[in-house]
Amino acid sequence: MTNSINIVNDSFCIQTKAMNKYLINEFKRHFILCHPILSFFLDLFLQGEDLHKWIKSLNKGASIPDYGYFPKELFMYYYRKFLYFTNFKLIFYKHKSDLLDKRLLIDDINQGIIETSTVIFETTRRCNLNCKYCSCGQLYCNSNQKSKSDLNINSAILLLEYLFKLKSLYSSKKQIAISFYGGEPLLNFHFIEEIIKYVDSKLTDMQIKYDIVTNGVLLDKYMDYLVGKNFTIFISLDGNIKNNDYRVFKNGQSSFQSVYLNIKKLQQKYPDFFKSNIIIKSVLHNKNSVTDIIKFFNESIDKTPEISSLKTNCIKIEKRHEFEEMFVSYEYSVLQSDDISYLEEKISKELPDSKIIFASVVNYNSYIYSDYIDLIFRGKIKKTPSNTCLPFSKRVFLTIDDHLLPCEKIDYKYSFGKVENNQVIIDYENLINFYNDVFDRIRSKCYNCSRQNNCPQCMFQLDLDNREIECNSFLNYLPFKEVLKGYIELIEIDRSKLNKIIKNNYSLK
Ligand code: SF4
Ligand code: SF4
Repeated sequence: MTNSINIVNDSFCIQTKAMNKYLINEFKRHFILCHPILSFFLDLFLQGEDLHKWIKSLNKGASIPDYGYFPKELFMYYYRKFLYFTNFKLIFYKHKSDLLDKRLLIDDINQGIIETSTVIFETTRRCNLNCKYCSCGQLYCNSNQKSKSDLNINSAILLLEYLFKLKSLYSSKKQIAISFYGGEPLLNFHFIEEIIKYVDSKLTDMQIKYDIVTNGVLLDKYMDYLVGKNFTIFISLDGNIKNNDYRVFKNGQSSFQSVYLNIKKLQQKYPDFFKSNIIIKSVLHNKNSVTDIIKFFNESIDKTPEISSLKTNCIKIEKRHEFEEMFVSYEYSVLQSDDISYLEEKISKELPDSKIIFASVVNYNSYIYSDYIDLIFRGKIKKTPSNTCLPFSKRVFLTIDDHLLPCEKIDYKYSFGKVENNQVIIDYENLINFYNDVFDRIRSKCYNCSRQNNCPQCMFQLDLDNREIECNSFLNYLPFKEVLKGYIELIEIDRSKLNKIIKNNYSLK
């Protein structure tokens, strides 16, 4: 067995405050409570010690710091166990970086498009509000050029025809969600109606679902239609009138009253629909808090909203200070809460501690598999670096300029296709070159990153203009050990939390 540094990093031991030792193989996701002798052997091995010689040189036994004296027989027993672990590849399984060698191919792109679950139309860039933190607004470099304002109906229909055809020919998943996004999409209601008329007129075996992301100002005018078409409606509101300070009309006046009244009207008129199809989306900033938001919506409309933080990339240099004043992280806001038991009751799964426990259960447990492919091929399938989805596999986003992007959350400069001259054109060459170039540039970083099995990073959130890509989520071996230690200590403090999470989230299928 060779003792190279790349292999070493796959397996290590940690010791928690409760003095328990855990043996971890992050590559195979083994997470084993172990005897201190086993951990001691691993440390010796990592230091390059010949364990066989070491055992032979033992007289009657030896002491392990913090754990006391153990007899030679016990050392021999755990030495055999250590050999068993290494022989059966429970530790030192494989050089993990082999796995990141996948390059994007045309087939991957085609597969992504065929299987895509959502087409998103940038229905309009017009908006009836002037929210101070808007991602298309004054704070961000990505303030989209206002060349046109509404999406062309023919382009959208061409794209739908293209996707319907591909899906009906090649996909087993005959379903797609059509999402209307903006600006404020209800300002271009005609477009929404025409698209739905087109879909209704098609004899398609496709299951179609609609959703819309709206600021709610025009909801009273269009709610009957949206309810009739069984839309899922995402309404943006940040809490009570004070919390909503940044969501203002063009004249600077608060939008709260209009939106809140519309929400109440919808609830009264369509109570069942309201329960099942309305999702409130709130943005966290310095005028509200997680507790404010959760309390306000639970008490006023019996809903628990989705909460997100302000977008952190592409901030204009001259607006950096303003942004920093506004920005509040979810974790910070929860830590500052004076009513954590209320949050535990309402959003236990969303709380940072629960998320950490959840992540440790999913990512460091060799008994949990996401699907059958994971069960059979775990550790054998090559993948691309980072956690960027295959292009178009989740969404196809059509902008008002008829550009095709893999996602609505990324910079508009990343266009990889167009609807033009009555056809949908995917720029395969550009797409493949771009993705593979980024993968090549970040791969060496990912090789040495302890989060490669559990990477949270989409490449489009990084500064890709710089040849040397910096990844803020990179974690090397030592801090990673500390992070894992924190996970386990949380579980050790309150095991009932872990049981609850497993019970609520996992099933044997
Ligand atoms: S943010 Fe990145 S990973 Fe997520 S859907 Fe968009 S492109 Fe894919
Ligand atoms: S966190 Fe960054 S460096 Fe680490 S694997 Fe993900 S993309 Fe690579």
